[in-house]
Amino acid sequence: MLKTPLALLLSIGLFTSVSLLADSLPVQAFGTMPDGRPVHLYTLDNSNGLKAVISDYGGTVVRLLAPDRKGQLADVVLGFNSLNDYFTKSPYFGALIGRVGNRIAAGKFSLGGKAYTLVTNNEPGGMPAHLHGGTKGFDKVLWTAEPTRRDGLPALRLTYTSPDGEEGYPGTLKVEVVYSVSKDNGLRIDYSATTDQPTPVNLTNHSYFNLRGEGEGSILDHELTLHADRYTPVNAGLIPTGELAPVTGTPFDFTQMHVIGERINSPHEQIKFGLGYDHNFALNGSSGELRQVATVREPASGRVMDVLTTEPGIQFYSGNFLDGKAVGKSGKAYGYRSGLALETQHFPDSVNQPKFPSTILRPGETYRSTTIYRFSAK
Ligand code: BGC
Repeated sequence: MLKTPLALLLSIGLFTSVSLLADSLPVQAFGTMPDGRPVHLYTLDNSNGLKAVISDYGGTVVRLLAPDRKGQLADVVLGFNSLNDYFTKSPYFGALIGRVGNRIAAGKFSLGGKAYTLVTNNEPGGMPAHLHGGTKGFDKVLWTAEPTRRDGLPALRLTYTSPDGEEGYPGTLKVEVVYSVSKDNGLRIDYSATTDQPTPVNLTNHSYFNLRGEGEGSILDHELTLHADRYTPVNAGLIPTGELAPVTGTPFDFTQMHVIGERINSPHEQIKFGLGYDHNFALNGSSGELRQVATVREPASGRVMDVLTTEPGIQFYSGNFLDGKAVGKSGKAYGYRSGLALETQHFPDSVNQPKFPSTILRPGETYRSTTIYRFSAK
């Protein structure tokens, strides 16, 4: 009689501690939020050379170590050592972006016959826009973190509930992001979300990569291939005109590999508006299917990064607003174009562009998106 409940309790206790042990990740303190809540850094190590350090603040990829062709590790993402620098001077380094990544023209849209006005926090070419979710987007909130596993390897599950009306958006949005590392040196990001009212959703990650290592100069010598036959040209406010233009014969043609610096000073009007590359590319292949869409290679180290995604678009941003004022993790200033972003996404301003794939999530539906940044060397 006595033995059974005791054995049961013991076995539950044992099982719980074993499973906690299996799911645990190395964790470090990373300061506190202004309201005193503790912030952490979690390490995801695939034991094959890839190591990602992720914070629950903004779901930020703070470090990402990847081997070069000699097996030498370097941290290939821009970032800071102190949480305070993320609070005060980060141009979205490594962060999760939401509720809607990139720009919404004038911060305005209509949904279900109702007009919504979001905060405008950006003004390229003197034209106000809502950028990356607003003044306090998902990059600036503390997520709930839970160590987990994916395919037997370390993973981190982050959740955040965005209340109805946050930054002007309708509906309570429940968001889950799972970061995981794979055997073949991929950093995988699985996003999902549900809502209780129709709302636009477009989640991404804003890592700035430098495959020679963060702080190791500009990315102009990196070689880029982008499987995109078309891109979405913008106006002076970096808002898409609605056109899907062919890349053929323009500096936007990366369907065959090109060095990033090769055409970045071209007199092409779109390069002038973007101050370099700051454009959404319409990716080839079927949106919703995980497919390889981009490859970046840095010739000195040989590091290669493949990008795979289920998204229809990618924002290629060549770090045109980096100006050397931010000093990064190894004490070096992050100069002009010292990092590049490849943000997988739905097209910017989709909520105002009827011809673009819709970003509206409705009650009963689940938003899903997957992106993998996979590292190798040659
Ligand atoms: C945008 C840029 C912006 C950068 C950092 C990118 O996603 O396209 O225009 O300056 O993020 O905020």
